[in-house]
Amino acid sequence: MFLRTLREDPADAEVPSHRLLVRAGYVRRIGPGIYSWLPLGLRVLRNIEEIVRQEMDAIGAQEIHFPALLPKEPYEATNRWTEYGPNLFRLKDRKGGDYLLGPTHEELFTLTVKGEYSSYKDYPVILYQIQTKYRDEERPRAGILRGREFVMKDSYSFDLDDEGLTNSYRLHRDAYIRIFDRVGLRYVIVAATSGAMGGSASEEFLAEAPTGEDTFVRSTSSGFAANVEAVVTPVPEPEPIEDKPAAQVHHTPDTPTIETLVDFLNAHGDRKFTAADTLKNVLVKTRQPGAREWELLAVAVPGDREVDLKRLEASLEPAEVALLEESDFAANPFLVKGYIGPKALQDNGIRYLVDPRVVTGTAWVTGADKPDHHVVDLVVGRDFTPDGTIEAAEVREGDPSPDGEGTLVAARGIEIGHIFQLGRKYADAFSLDALGQDGKPKRITMGSYGVGVSRMVAAIAEQSHDELGLVWPREVAPADVHVVIAGKDESVREGAERLAADLDAAGVRVLLDDRNASPGVKFADAELVGVPTILVVGKGLAKGVVEVKDRRSGDREEVPVDGAVEHLVSTIRA
Ligand code: ATP
Ligand code: MG
Repeated sequence: MFLRTLREDPADAEVPSHRLLVRAGYVRRIGPGIYSWLPLGLRVLRNIEEIVRQEMDAIGAQEIHFPALLPKEPYEATNRWTEYGPNLFRLKDRKGGDYLLGPTHEELFTLTVKGEYSSYKDYPVILYQIQTKYRDEERPRAGILRGREFVMKDSYSFDLDDEGLTNSYRLHRDAYIRIFDRVGLRYVIVAATSGAMGGSASEEFLAEAPTGEDTFVRSTSSGFAANVEAVVTPVPEPEPIEDKPAAQVHHTPDTPTIETLVDFLNAHGDRKFTAADTLKNVLVKTRQPGAREWELLAVAVPGDREVDLKRLEASLEPAEVALLEESDFAANPFLVKGYIGPKALQDNGIRYLVDPRVVTGTAWVTGADKPDHHVVDLVVGRDFTPDGTIEAAEVREGDPSPDGEGTLVAARGIEIGHIFQLGRKYADAFSLDALGQDGKPKRITMGSYGVGVSRMVAAIAEQSHDELGLVWPREVAPADVHVVIAGKDESVREGAERLAADLDAAGVRVLLDDRNASPGVKFADAELVGVPTILVVGKGLAKGVVEVKDRRSGDREEVPVDGAVEHLVSTIRA
C-alpha cells in the first residue's frame, strides 16, 4: 500500500474535506489549485466517474473526448476568447499561434456535430465527455473543491426544436438525480443564473454543506428554491406621486452611516424613520471583457440591506466588478463619501441602477452630495429617474418568496452540477443547421450540462466524515474492506494475505495495509482513510477469529476465520 498519512492538518486547509483528503493521503498539492491524485483518491475519483458514465450512457448519451489544448479560433467565433476574461488560461505555441486550455467545450461540440451531421434525420443527439478542465480561478480554494485544474463531465444536447430541448433537459435532470443519489450526497435542486454560458432555463444541484460557497434560499411553504444569485425581487406596485411632500435638504451633522442618519432624523422631528426608508448609494467600477478602462457604476439599495457582491457580479456578467479605491474618490470629487445622492451621480454621467423595490412614487432619504447633508422625500419619477434596476441587494431570511408563497430561509451549498438550456447561441455562432423535411435549413437548439466530478470527491467528504476521519459511502469508497495486519508474526501476515486474496476472488474490493507500522498507527489510519468495513487480522487468528468493524457505526464483532469471507460478502451486499 502506497500511503503516508499526516498527523498535522495542512496549513492552508480551511474546510474538513481539504484537511482530511490531504491528511489521509488522497491528494497532494502541487501548486495553487493544482493537485495530484494518489492511489486512494484516484480510486474514489474513478468510482464517481464510472457512476456518471453509467447514468449518461443510460439516457443514450455517447461519450467522446476532446483535447484540453485548443486553438483560439473557435472561441473567437463566440467571443469567449475575450469574454471569459482572466479565468481563461491562454498560451502561445512556438510559432506564436494563440491557444487556450479548455474551461468548457461548447464550441468544440457544436463544431463536431456540424462536421458530422446534416439532416433532420440525424437528430436529436447527446454527447458527453469526462475531461480535465482549466480555469485560472481568482480564488482557488479548499483543495480540490475549487481547483484550477479539475475533472468535469460536460454534455451537450442538440435538438431540432424547443420541445426536443425540453426533453433532453429533462433526461439530464433525471440522470443527475440518479447520479447524486447513488454517490450518497444530500443535495437540493435550485433555480440558477446561466452565467458566462448564455441561455435561459437553468438549474443547479447544490450539495448541502455549511462550508459551501453558494447560498440558496427556499420557501417555507412552496417548492421554490433558488441560488441567491438567481432570486428575482418581487416588484411592489408604483405609488401615486401627487400627494408626496416636496423634497427637502436637511443639515444632518455627523451622519455618514445609515444608523447615525436614522438616529439623527428620529431625534429631530415627529416622523419616525427606519433604515428601510433610506437609499444607500454604493459605488463600484466595472470593466467589460476586453476593455482597458474601468467605468463607474452607482448601485442604490434600501438602507436596511447590504449590497451582495456575488449577486451584483452575477447581474453584471460577463463584466468584471471591483470596489473603488481612494484614488477613484480623489479623481471624482463630486463623490462625497457618506453623502452621495442621485443628483451628483446623474449630473456627472454615472450610470445609476436601483434595487427593484425603488419604484415610481416611492420617497427616500438619501445623500444630498455635500458633507453633513441629506435629502428627505426624494421621490422616484419626480425628483430623479434611475437608469434601470439591478438585482444586487442581499436576499435575507424572512423575505417574501418570489413565487408569492411563504417566506425565505437560507442555507449554503456546493455546486456539484449545473444544467441549462442554451438555446441557439452557439448554433448561431457556427450556423449549425439541419436540412429539414421541407428542404429548408433548420437551426439547432442546444443544452449544456456539467457535473463537477473531482469536486464531488470533496463534496462527499464534506458531508461524510467524523472526528476520526473520512467515512465513505460504499458506492464511492476506495475499497469495500480495509484489511489491517495487526501483528508481526509471519502467520498473521500470511492469514491476512490469504483472506485478502479470497475476498478479492469473491469480487470484494480490498485494501491491504501491509505497511510495517504499529497496530495502533494502522487502526488510526484505517479510521482516517474511511473505508466502510475494516477487517482486523491479529492475535485472535491463533484462536480462529478475526475482527470486523463498521467504520460508520463503530460496531465491532468477532467472526470465525473460516466463515469470514461469506460474512463480509453478505455485509457488503446488504
Ligand atoms: P462555480 O460557480 O462554482 O465557479 P461554475 O458555475 O463556473 O462553477 P460550470 O461552468 O457550471 O461551473 O461547471 C460545471 C460544474 O463543474 C460545476 O457545477 C462544478 O461542479 C464544477 N466546477 C466548476 N468550476 C470548478 C472548479 N474550479 N473546481 C472544481 N469543480 C468545478
Ligand atoms: Mg455553474
